[in-house]
Amino acid sequence: MKHIDEFRDGALARQIAARIAAEADPGHAYRFMEFCGGHTHAISRYGVIDLLPPNLRLIHGPGCPVCVLPIGRLDMAIDLALSQRVILCTYGDTLRVPASEGDSLTRAKARGADIRMVYSPADALELARQHPEREVVFFAIGFETTTPPTALVIDAAARQGVRNFSVMCNHVLTPPAIRAILDGASAAERTTAEIEGFVGPAHVSIVIGSEPYARFAREYRKPVVIAGFEPLDVLQAILMLVRQVNEGRAEVENEFTRAVNPTGNLRAQALMDQVFELRDAFEWRGLGSLAHSALQIRPAYRAFDAEHRFGLHYRSVADNKACECGAILRGVKEPRECKIFGTVCTPENPIGSCMVSSEGACAAHYTYGRFRDIPIVANAAAPQTEGALA
Ligand code: SF4
Repeated sequence: MKHIDEFRDGALARQIAARIAAEADPGHAYRFMEFCGGHTHAISRYGVIDLLPPNLRLIHGPGCPVCVLPIGRLDMAIDLALSQRVILCTYGDTLRVPASEGDSLTRAKARGADIRMVYSPADALELARQHPEREVVFFAIGFETTTPPTALVIDAAARQGVRNFSVMCNHVLTPPAIRAILDGASAAERTTAEIEGFVGPAHVSIVIGSEPYARFAREYRKPVVIAGFEPLDVLQAILMLVRQVNEGRAEVENEFTRAVNPTGNLRAQALMDQVFELRDAFEWRGLGSLAHSALQIRPAYRAFDAEHRFGLHYRSVADNKACECGAILRGVKEPRECKIFGTVCTPENPIGSCMVSSEGACAAHYTYGRFRDIPIVANAAAPQTEGALA
């Protein structure tokens, strides 16, 4: 595949890994956070960890949009679908995220709620056009990457006078989450992982550009290297981070120049600003309530705000006690440190959100890395056959 294979070249990957090993100071412990779930997935899938020196650690961050969705927002959606008999539409991964008491949108659908998977918000708007007698609600999730398409359909619904369509907005913002991680790491009672730098988001940065990260480099002295999702992108970004740390620099660098520029997509930003405004506060799974960390629909588009239209109110709900998703999303634990990883909690039966989406840390580790946790014991006494010697 042209333009993909080049970024998965094994020989080149080994060369970059050799440079990382050569330049990493053996006396220093490097700790970098990959904020984005797409990077977590790529790191697990392509075995990037195996190419890194033992004193360099990658820490999963809270950048999986499905993972950070709190239980209370799912409960709201389930209640809306069951009590108001709306057609509730959302992305596939969202359907299986655990809600209160083991419930989920999928289970609510089995109990009779009209919940449908869509590939885009435009599909939800089309459903509203096809069913003028029904209320259709799009349950919108995601970071800055998926926000512009939601803004586009709200504006389209307003222009076209579609009266039976609304959006339950759960769009969250990347920079406040990075700040929460850094503030938690520097607080007296440390609540998040201590890190030296970030592998910066790819798709989010296409929309918002690289400039919003400059304050983290400046104020917190943490380097950020924006990277694409291919294995060579990630390795190159790690090499760039190692170099910044070694040289005492804290800058925003852009490895993903084929898609990201300093200012991002200005048209998408203008559209988001036209339709959305900052929420005062929003609860994140794992990070708690963060001020100005999410978006809500502006009053000018209030007719399309499902929370307003149906009088919905948020109620915070604690995560399952056995689940370590919160600690994983804060970067202080790894999937294998959860007692129910791979036993009670699997992709087929997720107990926590990190096991649902392929971008979740637990799902990525379950799919690509769980056997690494099992020590291999060679049986020296085993008889060797002719075939084995060949
Ligand atoms: S294994 Fe399951 S319950 Fe445990 S942290 Fe991961 S998603 Fe949460």
